[in-house]
Amino acid sequence: MSDCYVRILPESPEDNIDTTAVTAIIKYLSEYTVSDSIRCVESAAMMFVDCGGNLDRIVCPHCGGAVDFGWWGERMTEAHAGRFADLRVVMPCCAMQSSLNDLLYDFPCGFAKTMIEMRNPQIPVSEACLVQLRRMAKCNVRLIAARY
Ligand SMILES: [Zn+2]
Repeated sequence: MSDCYVRILPESPEDNIDTTAVTAIIKYLSEYTVSDSIRCVESAAMMFVDCGGNLDRIVCPHCGGAVDFGWWGERMTEAHAGRFADLRVVMPCCAMQSSLNDLLYDFPCGFAKTMIEMRNPQIPVSEACLVQLRRMAKCNVRLIAARY
């Protein structure tokens, strides 16, 4: 049986969720739904927050072209070598500037230094819950549904 994770992180890698907000969000989520666990993952370096087995395809945000997984893997290896400090890429499909964070991952993925993770939550995050999370995080947030 696989596990489902709901991960909450800032929409922009420039933003972060401070310790006070993390504590408040964990308390809020533990009241919102029953989960096997809720934890915060923090790192001094940027982390790639992935969706596990849910990643089906990646699309260019400019032209809608399908992104080749081989090309993406090479860009990820290069960016990882620099601890994901520089996420800029030039798209091979349309030569437009983008960022590894802005590619359209299906399901979503992202980059962050702080994320909050629920394991096997019984209720999905509703629109109202998301509004509340954004308010508490004091920044736009991205939701990532991962499966392993
Ligand atoms: Zn493109």
